[in-house]
Parts: sequence; C-alpha cells; structure tokens
Amino acid sequence: MSIFASGIGSTATAYRDGKILVVPSGTSLPSICVKCGEPSGKSLIKTFRWHSPWLYLLILPGLLFYVIAALVVQKKARIDVPFCGSHRSWRTRMNMAGAVLLIGSLPTSFLLASLEVNGGVTALIAVAIAFFGLIVLAIVGSSFSPVYIDETCAKFKGAGEKFLSLLPRGAASPMVASKQ
Ligand SMILES: [Zn+2]
Repeated sequence: MSIFASGIGSTATAYRDGKILVVPSGTSLPSICVKCGEPSGKSLIKTFRWHSPWLYLLILPGLLFYVIAALVVQKKARIDVPFCGSHRSWRTRMNMAGAVLLIGSLPTSFLLASLEVNGGVTALIAVAIAFFGLIVLAIVGSSFSPVYIDETCAKFKGAGEKFLSLLPRGAASPMVASKQ
C-alpha cells in the first residue's frame, strides 16, 4: 500500500487534462475553491482512496474477497483540497444530514414499532431512510472524487471550470502551459 501526499517540496504543478484535475505527487493546489474558483479559506485535508474498477468484479464471488483485495491494492492520496466557505459548509451540512439519516433510521424504526406500526412498513421506512442517507453521502463523495491514483499522481473529477481554467493544460507534458 502506498500513500501519496501533496505539498512536499517539488517543482511539479497541478494541471488539467480536459475536465480532469491531475495532481502530481508533491504538488500543492492554488488557494482557490476547486468547485467555484472563489478564493478559498482553509483547505480541507483529505485522504482519497482509489482502486481499479475491475476489482468490483470480485464482489461476484463474495463481498469479503472484494473488501480484502480493495484494502490491499487501494492507492491513497492525501491532498489539501481548497474549498471556499460556502462549498465547505455545503459539504459539512450534507455529510451531517447523511449521517443523521443513516444513524436515525434505527431509532425511527424503534419509534414506529412502539407506535405499533406494522413491522413490514416499519422495516421499509427504516431501510428507505438509511438508503436516502447513503445517497446524500454519495452525492458529497462524488462531487469531488478520484478517478485514478498511483505513486506519481492523483486524478480527480468534479473540479469546476473556473478552477481548471487557471491551470496549465497537458496530458503528456504537464510542464507545458498553453492558455487558450
Ligand atoms: Zn466554492
């Protein structure tokens, strides 16, 4: 397992490859919100995990195979992600709402049971609330998420056009800045 960290003395710069943000190991991102391009306050230090999508095939023989393999081969990248105040608080609010729904599904089912609501209906409501919580968490997770990580770079989707437009373009040669 490898860990990749941003911000350690290096001359590499982050660049865009179409809509994808490419962060070579050792790069710091500019202090601009990745979503809207406004000046960012404090960066969110986040560890992203990624593995090849092929690994999901292991869910077929068994979830446990997949979980073990994913833990072994997943790549991690620790990145300081710049967010403005409003995008930061959106993330916080959504994460809290998702967690409250997920955790709240259990007391809700107890409450409904105590009100002598039909068991099947209670279970259905509890599962629906938990599922909705997972969807909310997935929306936050996918709003800025890795599409590739290895020892040399991490690639993300979800960065805003205004942020990307401030970065050099390049796929093969990250050092070539061509403003169009
Ligand atoms: Zn923003």
